[in-house]
Amino acid sequence: MSAVRVRMAPSPTGYFHVGSARTALFNWLFARQQGGQFVLRIEDTDLARNRADATAGIERAMTWLGLDWDEGPYFQSERAQLYEAAIGRLLSKGLLYACDCTSQQVAERNQAAGRPPGYDGFCRERGLEPSPGRALRFRTPHQGRTSWADVVRGEVSYDNASIEDFAVRKSNGQALFILANVVDDADMGITHVIRGEDHVPNTPKHILLWDALGLGPHPVFAHLPLLVNAARKKLSKRRDKVALEDYRDEGYLPEAMFNYLALLGWSPGGDREILSREQLVSEFRLDQVKSSPAFFDEQKLAALNAEYLRALSPSDFTARASEWLASRWSPIAPFVQERARTLSEVYSMVDFLFLPEVRTDPAEWAKVRRQHPAFVALLEAASAGYEQCEWEPASIRQATQEAGAAVGVSALAKAQAPVRLAVTGRTVGPPLFESLHLLGRSRALARLAAARERALREDAASAASPPA
Ligand code: GLU
Repeated sequence: MSAVRVRMAPSPTGYFHVGSARTALFNWLFARQQGGQFVLRIEDTDLARNRADATAGIERAMTWLGLDWDEGPYFQSERAQLYEAAIGRLLSKGLLYACDCTSQQVAERNQAAGRPPGYDGFCRERGLEPSPGRALRFRTPHQGRTSWADVVRGEVSYDNASIEDFAVRKSNGQALFILANVVDDADMGITHVIRGEDHVPNTPKHILLWDALGLGPHPVFAHLPLLVNAARKKLSKRRDKVALEDYRDEGYLPEAMFNYLALLGWSPGGDREILSREQLVSEFRLDQVKSSPAFFDEQKLAALNAEYLRALSPSDFTARASEWLASRWSPIAPFVQERARTLSEVYSMVDFLFLPEVRTDPAEWAKVRRQHPAFVALLEAASAGYEQCEWEPASIRQATQEAGAAVGVSALAKAQAPVRLAVTGRTVGPPLFESLHLLGRSRALARLAAARERALREDAASAASPPA
């Protein structure tokens, strides 16, 4: 048996999903345990995004978790020639055909025939010449089955008749994920493909291409179980906190996260839950991973994190906490430095970043309300602007200016005061737009809403009992 080679093959999405983190971790554990190699490959065939941007987040997240890779990152966007060569081989074997159907035509034909979505083979016998503007499709065999022994799910088998003639190259000439993934796994000598179960339906296509290209025995497949929330629904960005970066920013320890992710689909047996990296490397068993969905339990993660915090020595605890506290406000540190006379004043300038709700000085509140008759209207206009604008200091500045203008407060400085009071609880402090940026859009909006409600309550109360 050749040495184990596994890979993490994320498509850049702008954040690192906890499910991707679990996939990366299981690959890493398996590689380290088997004395194998762990390759990082960025599957960016599909994206016109800036490469550096898209990958920096992935690399930062993996590094934070301590998942070091032995090779890469490789970029699919730099490997187009390899995919073209594979397409040339398939074409010469007569295994591809050109197709000029639009997705709308395909959808209409399927609908008219009462068929499920998916390409219906319309161009199969038309004999179109491959040319720009035409996609290339794989001639899926209509007979037989495609099967594999999945390490997690056991024997999985698809009737080939149920697999559509899938495209391997888009009409714009770009190779598609399905082909690039196979070509790369073969080229990189990947022995085990360990990935999320959402890829199960792609696997028969991968195997068909693998065989059509004559690449020899295909890798071993292990499809890891879906992560679900408390309602047993697939984790979604809209409903659930799924970005690993959010947990990092909230002060979860990477070693606790590492430990917790290892328990999503696998268990060391008994009721043991706290395991060190070394223990996980030696005890993890890929073939004991369960196929049933794994509950991503934020409560349990928090409890485990608490155990890790308590296990730190007092000096380590202080060091880790100080580091985290500093990371929360350090982006505005230069502004605070310009304004503070003593170190103790630093705290009162940045406490709004840490407090769940702002603490407002009653005298300052009363003063700002007196000086700003348009207080409520201004906060409303600012909220509306902040919901739309890009969350960058310059755009926040412009939205504030526009909100002021909309309610007849044209001086930016005057428009700032109510906003500053609402989000920081004070009338002075570091520059407002940098502060808002650092605080984050959702916290800023919540505080503006709270201040608006407080003002409306006060107005209602004073209208009910006018001063004598
Ligand atoms: N690029 C794919 C994804 O992000 C992963 C494919 C694979 O692991 O084979 O879902």
